[in-house]
Amino acid sequence: MIPFAVKKLVFYAYKKGMVKMLGCIFCQVAAREKPATLLYEDDQCVAFQDINPKAPVHILVIPRKHISSLNDEIKDEGLLGHLLVVAGRMAREKSIDRSGFRTVINTNAEAGQTVFHLHVHVLGGRIMAWPPG
Ligand code: AMP
Ligand code: ZN
Repeated sequence: MIPFAVKKLVFYAYKKGMVKMLGCIFCQVAAREKPATLLYEDDQCVAFQDINPKAPVHILVIPRKHISSLNDEIKDEGLLGHLLVVAGRMAREKSIDRSGFRTVINTNAEAGQTVFHLHVHVLGGRIMAWPPG
């Protein structure tokens, strides 16, 4: 039997996003357990190439800690700002900052979210349509 205190500790760590979600592919990418073309990483986030790019440049920026989507209760507002700062840095590194780029966060099925670990898409290198489909 697992002691209640241990269960409580694990639940607390999970709520804080400190525990890797079992089976989450982006948690696995962040932990380097799943191969990806990493472009940037720091203590808060990881940026890597999308495996199925929808534009000549298609990068994903993810938090290291597991957040399912913007529907989660996110207390760390600074982390969300940091993801966007890194998105801009990636655009500059790929030289799509001047021509233009798009940042997208899909939330839930009707928006097209397929991976339930928060991620910012950084797309560029072609003319984008508006409104998005
Ligand atoms: P979304 O549909 O907004 O949830 O975006 C998920 C994105 O993750 C898609 O663009 C996928 O091509 C991409 N993707 C899924 N698995 C991987 C992976 N293992 N490595 C890199 N990108 C992935
Ligand atoms: Zn995850």
